[in-house]
Amino acid sequence: MNQYSEILEKQQRFFNSNATKDIQFRKNQLKLFLSILQKNEARLDEAIYKDFKKSAFENFATELSLLYGELKHSIKKVAYWSEKKYVGTNLANLPGSSYIIPEPLGNTLIIGAWNYPYLLSLHPAISALAAGNTVIVKPSELAMNTGKLMAELINSHFATEYFHVIDGGVEETTELLKLKFDKIFYTGSSNVGKIIMKAAAEHLTPVVLELGGKSPAIVTQNADIKMTAKRLVWGKFLNGGQTCVAPDYILAEKSIKSQLVDEIKKQIEKIHGNDPQKSEAFVRIINPRHFQRLTALMDPAKILFGGKTDATDLYISPTLMHQVDWNDAVMKEEIFGPILPILTWENLDEAIAQIKAQPKPLALYLFTSSKKIRDRVFSEVSFGGGALNETIMHLANPNLPFGGVGNSGTGNYHGEYGFAAFSHQKSIIEKPNWFEPFVKYAPYNKFKLSILKKLL
Ligand code: NAD
Repeated sequence: MNQYSEILEKQQRFFNSNATKDIQFRKNQLKLFLSILQKNEARLDEAIYKDFKKSAFENFATELSLLYGELKHSIKKVAYWSEKKYVGTNLANLPGSSYIIPEPLGNTLIIGAWNYPYLLSLHPAISALAAGNTVIVKPSELAMNTGKLMAELINSHFATEYFHVIDGGVEETTELLKLKFDKIFYTGSSNVGKIIMKAAAEHLTPVVLELGGKSPAIVTQNADIKMTAKRLVWGKFLNGGQTCVAPDYILAEKSIKSQLVDEIKKQIEKIHGNDPQKSEAFVRIINPRHFQRLTALMDPAKILFGGKTDATDLYISPTLMHQVDWNDAVMKEEIFGPILPILTWENLDEAIAQIKAQPKPLALYLFTSSKKIRDRVFSEVSFGGGALNETIMHLANPNLPFGGVGNSGTGNYHGEYGFAAFSHQKSIIEKPNWFEPFVKYAPYNKFKLSILKKLL
């Protein structure tokens, strides 16, 4: 027993009362959830600005609008997603009918990461609630102000036995992980992902792990270089580079490297000015530990552009690095900051081989006008999800499942996939009583076996 078992017991009792099975109940709760967020937008903006100077514009564009969209989509679709679905019945089971009932798993735990603090804690919660579960959310302690605000808003509007936020860090998470949940949904680093999976294994609790990794952006000589630079700069420097699906590094065809670099520099200056520290739109590094980690990755001899830092402001300017290879510190870990190394290749086989020598990335971006190259890269390389001639936007389509593969994650969510992640597909077969095949029963003989062989 620990301090959180009382909350979980309340949630277990509430789930067992069947209240969450009612679709209208779920819709009402999701509507309440939407109105709480919408009414408190100014406070949500204020808290995230305090955490890492994220602007109200970026908060809306990359967090709140996605939460509103998911809530509205779920309110509209939850009745349909929850319906029993008939499937075909095979010959051996005729006469009969077969169907699947999606049922909630029960009591769920969601552990969020700090880099999109609202989105990564609350988006999975929407799926879990839509699917009829109870939820405990544990946001990241690194985004302190947003974590506290989520706890205040959710805990004052929802019953503890249904939906509750626990604001805490490693110690609190460790205590929570001792309890038996029916699903654990974790977003964060691969190292902590292993701790989560081990703890879940003690109770045979299924997990979704949304992890990270080094996501490449391949650029070929026939890409639209100007547009490529624009979209790469947007995707890389959004949120100060602290985005799980940000392009981590560029693999550019050698012949267009200098043209691409020129366009990237122009684009950075165009959107953030000559001094991005003064730009309203440029987010800071979350804390001194990450600031030091990032500055240690910046080999001064290899900085091509940017490279300015200010420890007192946790500021690192958009930085390009070149003449980098896999022995450099910057290529040995996920960067998760505004540093963009550019590597080159002359032969596509080489580029593909470099990516395949690494753990499977969360995202891959390909910039090319060649359909042949597109088909080759998308079929030969394994990665969570990605885009052609774009960055990041695949995660903003609720019709696409979002998740990693291998080292970058297990399972996926968004839209109906999120509903499925928090549901069990209960399979049922119904039989009439007027027919029963005698071949099922002993004593067995050759005649029964010959019928069985024809049937099965
Ligand atoms: P993190 O692993 O440090 O923390 C994430 C969560 O784990 C927090 O809630 C934290 O309290 C908890 N935690 C940390 N250490 C723990 C421990 N020892 N035991 C139990 N719980 C612990 O990750 P982070 O720094 O918050 O996030 C960065 C990583 O997350 C990057 O690798 C990034 O790519 C990845 N990420 C992935 C996604 C995705 O959707 N796939 C989204 C955002 C971030």
